[in-house]
Parts: sequence; structure tokens; C-alpha cells
Amino acid sequence: MSIFVNEGEAHKRPNPQRVAILGASGSIGSQTLDVCRQHADRLDVVAITVYDSVSFAAKAAREFGCRHVVIANEARRNDPALADMPEQAEVTFGPEALEELVRSDDVDSVVSAVVGFAGIRAGYAALKAGKALMYANKESLVVGGDLLMPLVKPGQLIPVDSEHSAIYQCLVGEHRSDLYRIWLTCSGGPFYGMGREELSHVTAAMALKHPTWSMGSKITIDSATLMNKGLEVLEAHHLFEVPVDQVNVLVHPQSMVHSMVEFSDGVVKAQLGPSDMRIPIQYALSFPERWETPCERVDYRDVCDFSFGHADEEAFGCLRLAKEAGRTGGTMPCVMNAANEVANLAFRQGRCGFLDIEATVEAVMGVHDVAPVESLAQLEELDSKARDAARAYLEGIAS
Ligand code: NAD
Ligand code: MG
Repeated sequence: MSIFVNEGEAHKRPNPQRVAILGASGSIGSQTLDVCRQHADRLDVVAITVYDSVSFAAKAAREFGCRHVVIANEARRNDPALADMPEQAEVTFGPEALEELVRSDDVDSVVSAVVGFAGIRAGYAALKAGKALMYANKESLVVGGDLLMPLVKPGQLIPVDSEHSAIYQCLVGEHRSDLYRIWLTCSGGPFYGMGREELSHVTAAMALKHPTWSMGSKITIDSATLMNKGLEVLEAHHLFEVPVDQVNVLVHPQSMVHSMVEFSDGVVKAQLGPSDMRIPIQYALSFPERWETPCERVDYRDVCDFSFGHADEEAFGCLRLAKEAGRTGGTMPCVMNAANEVANLAFRQGRCGFLDIEATVEAVMGVHDVAPVESLAQLEELDSKARDAARAYLEGIAS
């Protein structure tokens, strides 16, 4: 099957939509709740999941009248904040509960805003169960796109990542065969323009000050290393069925153009709008309709500074490595992602330097024997081994 809406029967949405938000306490999750607040007549938040923010879940379940709450971290079973959970909410625990929830007959649409590879089983289960899927969880697409994408019916999976939402919007009404290449925009991150020497001294606190977007901590560091852009190249490769080298990264520090698509006849379509994630989140929920904007409109007469440029893959090795993993394909993106998740966390916790992130990814990729992607269990096993290898590498350079 294909993501392209005009190449097959479009997946239908009911009105109102009964929505489950996975990772509701995070940056994307909270902004999704905002969109649901604004469109309460069309969106009924029936379920939310968190990893361990029990008090956040109790408060949101009360506000939205949720019938289901999943706490993904089993260790929270005896959390005192569970006493604040409203009576109507059935609370379940653990990763399997997440999968069960997305299959529930009470749910029409699933927003997956879980961070990391951990979100893959829920995404897979949602697609299998025929739910509409608003997908922010890019790591799972990068790792398991070969398993997820064949399940997608036209209009069933709408990307939430701003660039991919932009590309999707440019492609509505178009045919896959007319797509020539994708221009994936990139703010450049907080360290744009720096060379290797300067990068070797940057800290997590400096990286956490992103110039144009306010996001969760993992993706903020990924944006600084440009690994986020690398993951997005692979995400676009899977979503839009294009080779890795037909996805060009375009540095655009103003984050006004959210991405562009170039067609066979040379025409380029771009999607613009305010830098606010509630817009792509809302588009994914409203598709194929458009609803009133959740944020302030832009007066384009006031936008005088608008630029495009190249990404520096020499200085920002994570972008180069992610693309390499994508070109190799198979299980290579799985180990690349796992090593990055481990090193990203180590950098946030001050256990390694900025350039050690890419060194870890390179080392773990360097010893991996690539195989075709066959199953979720296979990916989970490889993910776990690659994490061990990344930890061992980091311990080695620390001692
Ligand atoms: P975040 O860290 O703010 O939130 C992550 C959410 O996932 C939290 O609710 C947390 O409780 C939950 N979670 C964490 N680990 C989990 C696990 N093992 N099992 C189940 N739930 C778990 O992250 P975020 O910035 O909101 O990003 C979420 C996803 O969206 C990521 O894949 C990210 O790349 C993508 N994304 C984010 C943005 C953004 O602006 N924040 C933009 C584009 C794409
Ligand atoms: Mg993005």
C-alpha cells in the first residue's frame, strides 16, 4: 500500500474522532492536547499514555474525561499520584498495555508522540488495527519503515514532523511517479556555522537553546548534531518512497519554509507557515479537512530575511552517518539509531562530549553485519545489542 492519497481508496475519519494520545506528557503530546482543547467539538480525547508522569496523566484525564490511561513504566504501579486519577479512567501499566489500547474499539485515531524506538510496537499495532495514525515518532519509522510502510493505506498515516507534513501537503493531489526530489529544510540548529574545533567544546546546556523550535530534550540534541535531519531524510525516504539521495537537506535558518517538493516538470511546491508544531499536529488530525488555525498568522510583508544554503556534513558527521545508514538500508538504521539514542542521553547527562555522539554511532555502525529487516523481534534484539555496544564504547573513551 501507499501513503499517497490519490493512489487508492482514502482512509475515512469519523466525526467526532475518538483520539488516543501516546506520549501525552511530552512536547508534541501537550501540544496535541492544546489542539484537542481548541477543537473539542471534533476531537474527543478518549485515551492518553505517559511513561512515568502519573500526576500529569491524572490532571489531563480529569480535564478531557479520558476513559483509558496507560502508564508505560511498570515501576509506577504504586505511585501515590494514582489516587488523583478520575473515576471514569481505567488505568493500565506497561508497554503491552500501550499496544492493547491502540487496538481498542473505543479508539479511532492514534497520535504517536512517544520518543525513540520504544514507540514502534504501538505504531505497528495501530496500523494493523486499521486506525488513523498521526505519526511524530520518527525513530520507529527510520528503524522499522520496511515493516510499517507496507501496512499503510492511503490517508491512514499522516506525518506530524513539520517537514514531512509539509511534503505530504505538497503531494496531495499529485502522483508518486511525478515526484522528482524532495528539499528537506533544516534550521541548522544552534551550532550552525561552527567547525570541529568549536564543536568539541559545546555543552548540552548550549544545545538545549534551539533558535526556532521548542522541543523535547532528545530531539533538541539531535537538532544540534543534525542527527535529527539525518533521521528525517530516512523518514522521508520511507514515507514517500524516494531514494535517500533524492532527499536534499536545505539549510534555511528562518524555519518559514517547512519543506519543498520538486516535480518532473521542474515545478517546486513549498509549504510555509508559522513555526508552531500545533499546525502539523492539527493538519494530521483534520486531514483531509482544514480547521481554524491554532496560532497567530504571519504577515509575509514583514519577512525580509529568507535564505537557503548547504548543510555541512563534514562538521556535523551525524547527518553523514544517518544518510550512509539509509543508503545501506536493512538493519543498519536500527543500530545507527540505537547508538544515537544512547550517546544522545550520555551527552545530555554530561557523560560524553558533543563529537563523541557521532564517534559512538560510527563505531557501532562499523562493526554491524547488515541483514534485511524481517520482524519487530529481530529489530528489538539488534537495538538492544547496539545499545550495549554504544555503552561499552562510551565507557571505553571515558576511562
Ligand atoms: P518528549 O521527550 O517531550 O516526550 C516524549 C513522550 O514519550 C513523553 O510523554 C514520555 O512520557 C513518552 N515516553 C518516553 N519514553 C517512553 C517509552 N519507553 N514508552 C512509552 N512512552 C514513552 O519528546 P517530544 O519532543 O514530544 O518528541 C516525541 C516524538 O516526536 C519524537 O520522536 C520526536 O522526534 C518527534 N518530534 C518532535 C518534535 C517537537 O517539536 N518536539 C517535532 C517533530 C518530531
Ligand atoms: Mg522536523
